[in-house]
Amino acid sequence: MSVSSTERIKCLIIGSGPAGYTAAIYASRANLSPVLYTGKEPGGQLTITNDVENYPGYPDGIMGPQMMEDFKNQAIRFGTDVRYELISKVDFSGPVHKIWSETGHEIQADTVIIATGASAKWLGLDSEQKLMNKGVSACAVCDGFFFRGQEVAIVGAGDTAAEEATYLSKLCKKGTSARQKR
Ligand SMILES: Cc1cc2nc3c(=O)[nH]c(=O)nc-3n(C[C@H](O)[C@H](O)[C@H](O)COP(=O)(O)OP(=O)(O)OC[C@H]3O[C@@H](n4cnc5c(N)ncnc54)[C@H](O)[C@@H]3O)c2cc1C
Repeated sequence: MSVSSTERIKCLIIGSGPAGYTAAIYASRANLSPVLYTGKEPGGQLTITNDVENYPGYPDGIMGPQMMEDFKNQAIRFGTDVRYELISKVDFSGPVHKIWSETGHEIQADTVIIATGASAKWLGLDSEQKLMNKGVSACAVCDGFFFRGQEVAIVGAGDTAAEEATYLSKLCKKGTSARQKR
């Protein structure tokens, strides 16, 4: 895409996680010819996990990266234009939304769907990265089932940690809560 070019479209989707591709499947089937920008993490957070077991349609579970490839291919099948770039600027002040990609390409869109997701708040330990998907998890609802009957530790002291602990209390033998000293 050339720098400083402008394009007029009906629907722009920012983000390529499950939310972005779900929006893309619906928008393309509704004849909105969506353009989807993947951002720096094509496929979103599930591309950094192994087994995903809680999505309908995968009775034997699925590897996260493969599932996101399936999502993408389903969106492309219905005509979504997937672009491997980041959106770096938006202007939503006028009746037509203006959006710029990192290469300076300007898009004017009737509708913008922001599906930029979230990211897990990790402790930042080397061991945490090494043991991710091997006992270390960022989501009790996603992974609690793998730890049923076991002893677990929950790190954090906010609402999220309390919610995760409550969920795990129904599955695990024992939960220990740990929080950082202030
Ligand atoms: C290790 C791990 C394991 C998990 N396991 C499970 C599981 O087993 N089951 C489950 O249900 N959930 C699981 N989750 C949670 C799940 O990944 C998230 O709930 C889900 O990915 C959220 O989807 P999303 O589409 O909202 O956003 P995300 O997946 O966070 O995707 C956000 C997207 O936005 C893009 N983006 C951000 N900024 C921009 C920008 N400026 N321009 C363009 N694009 C941008 C990113 O590149 C990315 O593609 C897990 C999460 C982690 C971290």
